[in-house]
Amino acid sequence: MLKDKNEQRTSLSELGEFGLINHLTKYFTINCESTEKAIGDDAAVLEFSGKQVLVTTDLLVEGVHFDLSYMPLKHLGYKAVMVNLSDVYAMNGTASQITVSMAVSNRFPLEALEELYAGIQLACKNYNIDLIGGDTTSSTKGMLLSITAIGEAEKKDVVYRNGAKPNDLLIVTGDLGSAYLGLQVLEREKQVFKVNPNSQPDLANYSYLVERQLKPEARKDIVKLLKDLEVKPTSMIDISDGLSSEILHICSQSEVGCNLYEEKIPLDPQMISTCEEFNIDSTTVALSGGEDYELLFTISQEDFPKIKGNPNFTVIGHMTDKTEGANLVTRANQKVELTAQGWNSLSND
Ligand SMILES: [Mg+2]
Repeated sequence: MLKDKNEQRTSLSELGEFGLINHLTKYFTINCESTEKAIGDDAAVLEFSGKQVLVTTDLLVEGVHFDLSYMPLKHLGYKAVMVNLSDVYAMNGTASQITVSMAVSNRFPLEALEELYAGIQLACKNYNIDLIGGDTTSSTKGMLLSITAIGEAEKKDVVYRNGAKPNDLLIVTGDLGSAYLGLQVLEREKQVFKVNPNSQPDLANYSYLVERQLKPEARKDIVKLLKDLEVKPTSMIDISDGLSSEILHICSQSEVGCNLYEEKIPLDPQMISTCEEFNIDSTTVALSGGEDYELLFTISQEDFPKIKGNPNFTVIGHMTDKTEGANLVTRANQKVELTAQGWNSLSND
């Protein structure tokens, strides 16, 4: 499908590990005050003066989390950074540094890793992040990519999953389910390509969905917006596994129940029309799809006027007493128990 356009193939063994790291990182610049020393010594040195430090990590495995037959390496690099930054923003913090570790088989030439790092570098530039270290080694099969993100927040600003109270409003940013459908579109094209290698994928009708899958953006803007609006969520989480499983995380950790209203779940028109084409239920996709990297949070009712009418936010429900359980209120006004059908990285089938 997506052919490797790199004609040149420089073997990694020509550079050696340190030559490779130097080659891949030489154009990265330092953006953050908190970075004292980045790459080049035994350890990086960071200075956060009085702030709380947020640390999160994520491991991506070829064939489990990504498929390079339709995921360009530059996009993979960008997305791998976004996945981690999203977790820092979900704590209501500012992301500042990343480390990148990878294991690659000899199938990957230097030019492929240059593409991967071009994506990582673009993410660092767009989000004002410093690359401060990592590790590179060989693998017997495929690629493994592990990124750790570090961020900061004032102690008073950190938002956990466990602060939601009954009657708090449940709010989500952006729209849901498109990233999952983008994956379905790409998988379908891959199957078509297997049968007919001369076919050219026509993704024009699915551009938004494919972009949501291949080039997601972490919601740094929302952390700033909430600060500007003087709203501190009572709980927050990012949507990596699907709306229902994230809601259940908030409910169990906050010891509350919730009513989620099906008709309120924000969906993109392209997502709705593609669900019809694939003959799948759009609510199911939004609840279980995952990889949207939007933020899901709760606020107390008295903060509602501050966010009311803002196009970034949709109120999708409210929290209740724990004894009422976590429920989806359908369009037909039926209450059904919310279950976690979210994508589970451990059930790799
Ligand atoms: Mg998360």
